[in-house]
Amino acid sequence: MSQQVTIVGAGLVGALFAALLGKRGYQVHVYERRSDLRKTTISAGKSINMACSARGWKALDLVGVGDQVRKAAIAMKGRMIHGTDESLTFQPYGKADEAIYSISRTGLNQILIDHADQYENIHFHFDHKCVDIDLDTPSASFELPNKKVTHIKSDLIFGTDGAFSAVRSAMQKLKHFSFSQEYISHDYKELSIEAKAGTFQMEKHALHIWPRGSHMLIALPNPDGSFTCTLFLPYKGDHSFEKLNKEQKIQSFFKNKFPDALKLIPNLTTLFCKNPTSPLVIIKCFPWSHKGKVAILGDASHAIVPFYGQGMNAGFEDVTILDELLDKHGGDWPTILSAFETKRKTDADAISDLALKNFIEMRDLVGQAWFLKRKQIEHALYEAFPDQFIPQYSMVSFTHTPYSDAVRRGIQQDLILDRLANDEDILDIIASGKLKTYIETNNMIPK
Ligand code: FAD
Repeated sequence: MSQQVTIVGAGLVGALFAALLGKRGYQVHVYERRSDLRKTTISAGKSINMACSARGWKALDLVGVGDQVRKAAIAMKGRMIHGTDESLTFQPYGKADEAIYSISRTGLNQILIDHADQYENIHFHFDHKCVDIDLDTPSASFELPNKKVTHIKSDLIFGTDGAFSAVRSAMQKLKHFSFSQEYISHDYKELSIEAKAGTFQMEKHALHIWPRGSHMLIALPNPDGSFTCTLFLPYKGDHSFEKLNKEQKIQSFFKNKFPDALKLIPNLTTLFCKNPTSPLVIIKCFPWSHKGKVAILGDASHAIVPFYGQGMNAGFEDVTILDELLDKHGGDWPTILSAFETKRKTDADAISDLALKNFIEMRDLVGQAWFLKRKQIEHALYEAFPDQFIPQYSMVSFTHTPYSDAVRRGIQQDLILDRLANDEDILDIIASGKLKTYIETNNMIPK
């Protein structure tokens, strides 16, 4: 008889993981706190778009939904930087055929649940909130809307219940379980730019950024011509969410900082006051499994800040890696889970730190001249040495290089970039087509 698996949380990672295990013939029960999102409307301000890149696509293709998701996604080929003087500068993310893809989180979640639900051996239980886990049995308790609690036993339990995971809470009581939770100084709020007569009011194939030091606005395109915007501001202090508490303050803040965006959001004050302000949390913990029977993945084990667009992608890559380990070790879950957490923890920590670092790059550096010069050099090096010099952003977004290797190579490459950026003649050398010879003569390419 096939093993019975319980998955707690039917979010992005839980629904994808259910599809993978269902495809492999496991009896899968997925318990989700919320109602079935295919039948409910999502409250305004909570829709958030995801940027999906190579790691995400690999996992979506693995379970067979990649093409369906592609139809609902929009390619973003680079960043469109909006200056305070309303100037626009486009910075490609990679080569001409490389892009990250904007997709609605709710739309993607619906596709994944629908797909998994087609398997006879996958059963969804909505309105079931996990309230307790007995890790040794293992068993789980779920509270229903009428407050009744139901208990189930299972061969395996996986927690894909997000940053505030109930499964992880149970593991936190174990000896030698390490855990940290850090809120960053900024909260976020969703806003939106509507389509005008069915057309996009800004460049469709770009991720729009208004970098303003400690404040940042971003916008991702939707298929209906609108953009979903996210505003990042400190939660307290000057120009914080706390201080922007009157219509006149909100309007004058946008007029100063984001004048072109203000013109495209006529209902700014209404949206600003109606939509929730949410915090951003970083979770790190270890181990991620208990006795080969209970494990956590996705945000439950490694929630990161959204500034590299990698939280979901990393969670999806967890599923790809578990699939590879299942191929290697058959149904030997103790071996699989031990190998998984050992291999994956270093990479999860690496992308967590990179994502935080990218916040500074996105909100501040992208608008500065020396940053643009460095990007130009980086691009030229990538063209000249496509196998030896791959920009860190490309390694993270367009390859499956382990995150920790991308960090290590990024550090080596930064040394070269710093050296070249200080060379006054470097842009002339690039323009004259002599960069390759210059680099080889000076023996500067990393092995
Ligand atoms: P979640 O999506 O949080 O899903 C957890 C599920 O578990 C939910 O359905 C929840 O209802 C359920 N649940 C919770 N508790 C219980 C319980 N006790 N019992 C039962 N069910 C429960 N990532 C990217 O890759 N690209 C991006 O561009 C990107 N942008 C982002 C922008 C913002 C503003 C934010 C906040 C995050 C962004 N992310 C992005 C990160 C991404 O949203 C997360 O990494 C991803 O949603 C994690 O998926 P998950 O399934 O692990 O957790």
